[in-house]
Amino acid sequence: RVKAEGRDGYRFFAPDMDESVKLRREIEEDLRAAITREDELCVHYQPQMDGSGGGVIGVEALLRWRHPRRGSLAPAAFVKVAEESGLIGPLTRRVLRDACGVAIAWPGLSVAVNISPVQFRSRTLAAELIAIVRETGARAQQIELEVTESVLLDNDEVVHSTLSALRRAGFRIALDDFGTGYSSLSYLSKFKVDKIKIDRSFIQRLGEADDAAAIVHAVVRLGHAMGLVVTAEGVETGLQHAFLKHAGCNEMQGFLFSEAVPAAALRRLLGRLEQAA
Ligand code: C2E
Ligand code: MG
Ligand code: MG
Ligand code: MG
Repeated sequence: RVKAEGRDGYRFFAPDMDESVKLRREIEEDLRAAITREDELCVHYQPQMDGSGGGVIGVEALLRWRHPRRGSLAPAAFVKVAEESGLIGPLTRRVLRDACGVAIAWPGLSVAVNISPVQFRSRTLAAELIAIVRETGARAQQIELEVTESVLLDNDEVVHSTLSALRRAGFRIALDDFGTGYSSLSYLSKFKVDKIKIDRSFIQRLGEADDAAAIVHAVVRLGHAMGLVVTAEGVETGLQHAFLKHAGCNEMQGFLFSEAVPAAALRRLLGRLEQAA
């Protein structure tokens, strides 16, 4: 494949490619080791507010990696590697286990966990997730699984039966980053979900671009017409908040309220957010 770049291409690209291949391999090896350790991988939780911006109704589990040499890494730096190297399964199991602990500690909150599209290729996904929730003693009804639209593109029987099995077990399904994938509205009627999360890119352009406002209004109306909960992600400003509240958005999440914090910091954060409400 390298040679197909042509001779000049080869000479120009080879050093860079070597570097990125090396980096990728290193991340993979380090990740494999990190999964077996207690302290490197940790799950942070970002609050999700009700539509009025008042009470906290849930939290989303977001993975962080305290890499021994590279410092704190965001998922962008390692989730793709995990997906490509078969490590995403163990990672997700770990996040879900942690999330179940939070669900048990906070019976009134919903706890969202991101599931990679890659995992939906496995026929055993639903059984695995159900087993973890059972082992921990949490209730599936409290757990929300976030999947991206790309999952629905694989319109096959595996995705369909996995999603149905998960919903039958009590999990709620949220469509993450809604509006960014190659989404077709027909997927919304083919696959039953409970919630759509309007992608941050639309929220960020509110107030700057008329089309963003039109899209947000339309998605809220579409979602409600289909009986779905509509969440906005990436809410950063009071203006965005006011717009979304007026548009009838059911839930909001974003730095305006809080970034993701370690589970140990949740009690204080939730107390502060409830007081502000
Ligand atoms: P996501 O599921 O859409 O999560 C939301 C991301 O937006 C998080 O980034 C969060 O920190 C960030 N965010 C929240 N509010 C704001 C805001 O107001 N402004 C801005 N600029 N950003 C905001 P994070 O934690 O870096 O995660 C990025 C992506 O990595 C997630 O997007 C999700 O797709 C993936 N991810 C995170 N944790 C996991 C995990 O445990 N498993 C899997 N498979 N993927 C994960
Ligand atoms: Mg998410
Ligand atoms: Mg999202
Ligand atoms: Mg997003």
